[in-house]
Amino acid sequence: MNVLVVNCGSSSLKYQLIDSDSEAVLAKGLCERIGIDGRLVYQKTGLDKEITEAAMPTHKQAIQMVLDALVNEKTGAIKSLSEIDAVGHRVVHGGEKFASSIVLTPEVLKAIEECNDLAPLHNPANLIGIDACKELMPDVPMVGVFDTAFHQTMPKKAFLYGLPYEYYEKYKVRRYGFHGTSHSFVSKRTAEFLGMDLKNSKIIVAHLGNGASISAVLNGECVDTSMGLTPLEGLVMGTRSGDIDPAIMEFIAKKENLDIEGVMNVLNKKSGVQGLSKLSSDFRDLEAAANEGNELAIGAIDVFCYRVAKYIGAYVAAMNGVDAIAFTAGIGENTTIVRAKVLEYLGYLGITVDAQANEVHGEEKVISTADSKVKVCVIPTNEELAIARETVALVK
Ligand code: ADP
Repeated sequence: MNVLVVNCGSSSLKYQLIDSDSEAVLAKGLCERIGIDGRLVYQKTGLDKEITEAAMPTHKQAIQMVLDALVNEKTGAIKSLSEIDAVGHRVVHGGEKFASSIVLTPEVLKAIEECNDLAPLHNPANLIGIDACKELMPDVPMVGVFDTAFHQTMPKKAFLYGLPYEYYEKYKVRRYGFHGTSHSFVSKRTAEFLGMDLKNSKIIVAHLGNGASISAVLNGECVDTSMGLTPLEGLVMGTRSGDIDPAIMEFIAKKENLDIEGVMNVLNKKSGVQGLSKLSSDFRDLEAAANEGNELAIGAIDVFCYRVAKYIGAYVAAMNGVDAIAFTAGIGENTTIVRAKVLEYLGYLGITVDAQANEVHGEEKVISTADSKVKVCVIPTNEELAIARETVALVK
């Protein structure tokens, strides 16, 4: 079965065509600058990347270009569109309505729309992508896979904020968590990789990418995660602040003469390791600068790692123990120094690191020593494959 996985943002769209039987990626790429000018990146597996600059005024036109590329006589991955058996869509916010993936019917789309005010930047863009695909492939079944769904098992004590309860009742203000597809995929794979019984396990997943979050997964179910109503809560990220004293918002607004949008812009786009280092949000740049003695870069990496370690400590408490810790996403999979620094704080758990194994980049590997009381590993995430699997499970 061939599944087209679509991750649609407001001006960009990532896609992969996956053969669900072999789980091979047949082709992948992205559309950028939709509604501005337009750029299609397309790569059939085994061939070079093709880049086409072409007008893409709407998402429908962008998807049409993707479909044309997929069936192109010379470089296409399939002969005709009838070879696309299903489409899996990433949807950012499913609110409390969606605790699992679901086939996209008109009623479901309406319910997703009702979650729009919880993710005003993301959900409308996701829905535009779904509508465009439905118009172009009206007979192909489509599935929505939510970033929030895996975290819906969190108990109330973990998802409620210390705010007036009526804000939860009236507006559903609570913690939801994001990156759920990745946390689900990686926790399952961690148990499998380590030969553990997922149903009887305590796993902490550290998804450290440009956006970063941690989750506590008890017996296969999420019991806590670091992101909240929005992806701003929790860890210090590439450009997001993560947890701060909320009173800072008023303080900065007055000092810098900013309105609420201005403050939110600072917290989302100008903070995190970018803001701390005054240099970059990318750990490759930070590592290079730190190696040259740049104090701000060293400090930013320290703040990032310390926050991760504190959350791991909190989640050990949440689960009353931990069997395994998995590092994933761009930083978690690639940055030896971050893993080493985080794990330095966790010696009290009986964790010992195999320094040589910890040199790993982007592949599954146990990085703790054989006698470590808690297993620590690197498990590359694969959100597209996870979406394809969920899609197949629902449409087969
Ligand atoms: P997102 O999906 O949230 O954009 P990713 O999971 O792709 O993020 O992670 C991107 C980040 O991962 C980059 O900003 C960079 O900090 C880090 N990263 C990626 N590759 C490497 C690498 N080889 N070495 C160090 N850091 C890396």
